[in-house]
Amino acid sequence: MRATLIYGVGDVRVEQVPDPVLKQPTDALVRVTTACICGSDLHPYRSKSPADGPARIGHEFIGVVEDTGSDVTTVRTGDLVVAPFAYSDGTCGFCREGLHTSCLHGGFWATGDVDGGQGEAVRVPLADGTLVKLPVGADSALIPSLLTLSDVFGTGHHAAVNGGVTPRTTVTVIGDGAVGLLAVLSAKRLGAERIILMGRHKTRTDLGREFGATDVVAERGEEGIAQVRDLTGGQGTHVVLEAVGHLPAYEQAVGVVRAGGVISRVGVPQYEQAPIGFASLFGGNITLTGGPAPARAYLDELLPDVLDGKIEPGKVFDRTVDLDGVPDGYRAMDRREALKVLVKL
Ligand SMILES: [Zn+2]
Repeated sequence: MRATLIYGVGDVRVEQVPDPVLKQPTDALVRVTTACICGSDLHPYRSKSPADGPARIGHEFIGVVEDTGSDVTTVRTGDLVVAPFAYSDGTCGFCREGLHTSCLHGGFWATGDVDGGQGEAVRVPLADGTLVKLPVGADSALIPSLLTLSDVFGTGHHAAVNGGVTPRTTVTVIGDGAVGLLAVLSAKRLGAERIILMGRHKTRTDLGREFGATDVVAERGEEGIAQVRDLTGGQGTHVVLEAVGHLPAYEQAVGVVRAGGVISRVGVPQYEQAPIGFASLFGGNITLTGGPAPARAYLDELLPDVLDGKIEPGKVFDRTVDLDGVPDGYRAMDRREALKVLVKL
C-alpha cells in the first residue's frame, strides 16, 4: 500500500510501504477513506532531522473496517469508523477516568510499528477501545465535520472543558488555526457569551466570528494584551484557551488572564521554560492546565451535535487533496495558504 513518510524539514513523500496485517486478536484493519493534515504535523515538518530516518505520519482518519482480530466485538467488517488521535483500550483506570491519552496500553499513531493515518490503510491496535462506528456512509456530507472529532474539535473542546468555560465566564482564545477556531466553537457550545479571538488572518478570524467569537484582536504581544484588557475593563478574561504552542502565545495568555482565572493550553508547547512565578501566575492566583485531549472520551458527547448538523466544525477544511497531493497539502499549510487540508483517498 502507499502511505506518507516524513524524511526531514519540508520533505514529505508518498511511498510504497508494507501492507498492514492483523498482529493481535484485538487489532482491526481499516482502509482509510478520509484523512487530513494537522497543525501539529507542521512541527516535525519544520524541525525533523533527516538523521533519524523517514517516519510515518498522520493521526486523523476515517475508514472502513476490512478485517478484525478474534477478540474484537464492537466493530465489524464493512463498518465506517473514526479513530481518535491516540489508540486506547477503553478499560484501564485512566480510560475509565476519561484520560484515554494516558491509557496504560495505548499509544499514538505513527510510532513504533503502528501505522500513520496519512496512508491507504492502518492496523488499529485495541480496536474495541479505539474505534467509533459512524452511522453514515463514507460519502456523507458530514465526513469533514466527523473527521474533526479525531483531533481538532476534541482538542478545542478539551481546552474549553479544562478551562472551566460556562455561560458565566469570559474567554480569550489565542490562535486562529483549526484548533483555536474550534476552541471558539467549543466555548460557544458550552455557553460562553463573550469570546475574544486573538488572530491575524482575516479569513480565519471571520470563520471564528461565525463559530461564536464576539471580538477579534489582530495585534500580538504587548499591544494585543492591552487591547484585550481594554475590552474587559482592564481585567482580562476568566479563561484563556492557548492553541498555538509557542512561548509568545503563552506569554500573551499570562497577559490577558483575569486574576483567579485559568490558562488552558492545547497547543503542543515547543518550549520547556516559561514564567510561572509571582509576576506571572502566582500573584494573580492563576491556574495553568491543559494537555493532549482524550479525543476518544469526547467522541460520544460531541458526535450527536455533529450528526444533527447543529454545529459544523468541518468548516475548518479549506482544501482537499488526494494521497499524491499530501506533500502539496503540507506546503500549503506551512505557507498558511490553507487552514486545514482534507485528504480524500
Ligand atoms: Zn486505557
